Amino acid sequence: MTLTVTGAVLDGETVGLRCEEGRILALGPEVVARLGDETIDAGGAPLLAPLVNGHTHAAMTLFRGSGGDLPLMPWLEERIWPVEAKLDDEDVYWGARLACAEMTRGGCARFWDMYWHPTATARAVADAGLRATIGAPLFDRDGDAEAMRQTALRSLEQLAELGPLVEPALAPHSIYTVSEDSLRWIAELSAERRVPIQIHLAETEGEVEQCLATHGLRPAAYLDSLGMLSERTVLAHGVWLDHYELELIADRGCTVVTNPAANMKLAVGGIFSYPAAREAGVAVGLGSDGAGSNDSLDLFADLKLFALAQKHAAADPTAVTAAEAWEIATGARAPLLGASALAVGAAADFLLLRADAPALAIGELASNLVYAAGGEVVDTVVVAGRVLMRGGELPNLAEIVARAGERARRLGL
Ligand SMILES: [Zn+2]
Repeated sequence: MTLTVTGAVLDGETVGLRCEEGRILALGPEVVARLGDETIDAGGAPLLAPLVNGHTHAAMTLFRGSGGDLPLMPWLEERIWPVEAKLDDEDVYWGARLACAEMTRGGCARFWDMYWHPTATARAVADAGLRATIGAPLFDRDGDAEAMRQTALRSLEQLAELGPLVEPALAPHSIYTVSEDSLRWIAELSAERRVPIQIHLAETEGEVEQCLATHGLRPAAYLDSLGMLSERTVLAHGVWLDHYELELIADRGCTVVTNPAANMKLAVGGIFSYPAAREAGVAVGLGSDGAGSNDSLDLFADLKLFALAQKHAAADPTAVTAAEAWEIATGARAPLLGASALAVGAAADFLLLRADAPALAIGELASNLVYAAGGEVVDTVVVAGRVLMRGGELPNLAEIVARAGERARRLGL
């Protein structure tokens, strides 16, 4: 089936776009619909590449609104981990379907996920039609490294079978929940299988102090000593990375995904320094983190917070430009994250915004996208040439909300 979009606005020019078999076949002012095409008349709506959520725990929509205003460790130990021990595949599937619905509404076509029952998340992603890089969370703080290794190997095999929209990854939870030997083993497995790694790093100051006390190294240097810093590695948070660590991370080609909303809600006491990361040459992406600690999956909200926090922390309104912030949110400044490109031959992943969105009516588009817009400006989402949302309406949304609600109540949330 050929899908043709007409009357869209790209960089100030009215264009058409034709896609077939999941790829963009033609893009430009000369492209018009042909007889038999599935057509969308964009009516002057802006055409954009979609957002990429570089770090989340999709099924944690089930935990939304039960964060308890607690610090990170008591929140994890008292509220999250005991309930997570009771999760089953159906809980995770419906929690992740809800997350996919919210991310689609917010213009996000791809996300990076670390959560229990990863194959259930992968099924949700495939059914929702989004793209995701998914890893089973790896822990061996109970001392059972062998069980953790079996989980890692099994999840890579199972995720690889779940279709073209799902990319398997390794997801060691953090340096404080995975042993040194296991981190080294994961780094070796990633190199051998060429699969990405996603890990939380330098989220709290306490994590840095503990790392220094235990290993005599700061977190990034510690991971590097285990071979874990490479161009396949995504470091989530990075709030407390110092100048030398940022240079090391840039040198190794890793990506840092900043999660400003979750960091502020958990009050980690600092802000990831984007100007320092940019100066060091670090690839940077944006993430929401899970709905348990955000609690929104509308990445537009994180985008605004990101830009504001950077300016505020640097006491400098030029610390990040709107165009730069938008590129970060679409993954364009971190090649590993899998940004979509609006170009012939690229995957047919794109957004049409609402032509009548009040927040976009006056002023520069990039500035409005960062500071004035929310996910409600997204009208149409197409991923791999398939129309997932049109007119801001998602099919099956009521059922997804109801089923996720039932699963949360089952868990006592
Ligand atoms: Zn996280």
